[in-house]
Amino acid sequence: MKIKGGDFLIHKTDPSSIFIPEEWNEEQIMLRDMVQDFLKKELHHLTEEPDATKDITFAKELLDKSAELGLCGLHINETYGGTNLDFNSGLLFTEAMSWGFSFATTMGAHVSIGSLPIVYYGNEEQKKKYLPKIANAEMKAAYALTEPSAGSDANSGKTKATIDQENNRYLINGQKMWITNAGFADLFIVFAKIEDDKNLSAFLVEKSFGGITLGEEEKKLGIKGSSTRQVFFTDCPVPKENLLGEREGGFKIALNILNSGRIKLAAGAVGGSKFALNKAINYAIERKQFGKSIAEFAAMKHKMGEMARKIFAAESAVYRTGKNIDQKEQELQKEGKSENEVKLEALREYAIECAMMKVYSTEVLDYCVDEALQIYGGMGYSAEAGVEMGYRDARITRIYEGTNEINRMLAFAELMKRAFKTKELNLKQAGKKIPSTLIKRFFRIQKLTSEQVIENYKNLFLILSKYSFDAFGMELENEQEVIMNLSDILAETYVAESVYLRVKKLKQSKGSNSTIQHKENISALQLYEANIKIVHCANTIVDSLPDTKNKVLRYYIKLLTPQPHLNPTRIRRSIAESLVESKSYNW
Ligand SMILES: Cc1cc2nc3c(=O)[nH]c(=O)nc-3n(C[C@H](O)[C@H](O)[C@H](O)COP(=O)(O)OP(=O)(O)OC[C@H]3O[C@@H](n4cnc5c(N)ncnc54)[C@H](O)[C@@H]3O)c2cc1C
Repeated sequence: MKIKGGDFLIHKTDPSSIFIPEEWNEEQIMLRDMVQDFLKKELHHLTEEPDATKDITFAKELLDKSAELGLCGLHINETYGGTNLDFNSGLLFTEAMSWGFSFATTMGAHVSIGSLPIVYYGNEEQKKKYLPKIANAEMKAAYALTEPSAGSDANSGKTKATIDQENNRYLINGQKMWITNAGFADLFIVFAKIEDDKNLSAFLVEKSFGGITLGEEEKKLGIKGSSTRQVFFTDCPVPKENLLGEREGGFKIALNILNSGRIKLAAGAVGGSKFALNKAINYAIERKQFGKSIAEFAAMKHKMGEMARKIFAAESAVYRTGKNIDQKEQELQKEGKSENEVKLEALREYAIECAMMKVYSTEVLDYCVDEALQIYGGMGYSAEAGVEMGYRDARITRIYEGTNEINRMLAFAELMKRAFKTKELNLKQAGKKIPSTLIKRFFRIQKLTSEQVIENYKNLFLILSKYSFDAFGMELENEQEVIMNLSDILAETYVAESVYLRVKKLKQSKGSNSTIQHKENISALQLYEANIKIVHCANTIVDSLPDTKNKVLRYYIKLLTPQPHLNPTRIRRSIAESLVESKSYNW
């Protein structure tokens, strides 16, 4: 059977078919450790990160040093001087890069959004000309999509490319905003509309072409080490051969690159969360109050245990998705698709999961940096401890690569498109099975297995989606509160299932030991917390419907979401105690 994005909602997944982070091989772990060691050496001794408003050479030189280690060519094919890492290893690399503070953003703009458009859409000449120079950082890359009046609505950009037939080139005029790496970039992927086109096209624009001026460095809340500027184009001459992909194909490029950027950001958020938790654990052990280490207080254990649960959950789902993208690539390769088609179609296939995980993981990160700061108490508020920087840096992740509101809506819209427009997913058929299952269950009140609980969440999502459509019809598009709650139910379900499958696979292969026992506890706790969130979202949806069917829906919610019986406090405490014992989160 072909693997499909969004399919988790209607089919059971065999644990053996998913990737779990316990399966990283030696090579992958070596890459992760090498990246983290490099960043520790270059950055962790600094009391303050160099601020790009004062010094952009630091980030630029660090990119050069990264290139010497081969880190700038990881996503580029060997033919063009790279190492062509598989997608999931690329995510692990991004997780490791998050230890580089704002340099992670600099690196992301260079190796991800700034160069993947060429990897995925470039023709042979463009790849040959630019990719080797990106891999060795001779050319530093940036991605210029956003404009003052075109943020979330990216296709509404006013930057224009006029055709200069005589000189076989385009002349670009316009203004871009918030462009990462702009202060030192040599190559910009610029999105602009050709003449009076409706849709964007993409261009490879070298700084050396002329007609480019830069604004001042933005004074930002966080990621202060990364360069962010406005970029102005005044009759910037771009040779015809530097059009990337097809005319008016730019928006498609932008969206697909963002699919990849979103799941990468999610992996980075997992890394940042682990970093924050590890700092918090060590501080909690060292800090004494009332005659003992604060790590011994139950309130602190709650925080550490909860951070660990959320990290474990996000990590499970992020790398499950990453591997699925790799598997899809292999499937498409076997069908004889070209390299570009393989990469793009695999990413598009998992657009729903990429969007969900961007939202979920970045919100886990915000939770973790906030609680880490709280564990540090007053010291957390001081720049000296370095946690306030993480708190500020993390905030951007909910804004770029599509805001979390946009990604919530996108995940739901994409699912509905596949169900009703392209008919790739048979949600209707899945929905039909529901009433009889429910009635049967009513007469068999029993303790549900984790698998049944997860199946219930899927059914609840389908029921609520159907009722929402019945209530609002095409107007549902404007009921964003309903959509965002549906999207959260979808994400909670996907994540809970990913954790459950991870632990099940682990138990099947490794039997049982104390670490696996902790992971099993996390899996149970995840379902417990998912249930609370799902019930809340479901009831909010029902309260928002203008319908009289509320009673039926409330009955469904009750039936499908009995709160699992467990003691969450004990579980969190035991997780926290294990973290304190090992002085780190190393699961
Ligand atoms: C530090 C930094 C670095 C960046 N780097 C880059 C880069 O390298 N390249 C690049 O091209 N861009 C970059 N960006 C831009 C970033 O991608 C945008 O800021 C982001 O897409 C949001 O656009 P906006 O700021 O215009 O917000 P807006 O689109 O104005 O959104 C404002 C608010 O309205 C909400 N909103 C907007 N539309 C809708 C809707 N339809 N329904 C519901 N709510 C909606 C949003 O969720 C948000 O809460 C960067 C931004 C920052 C701050």
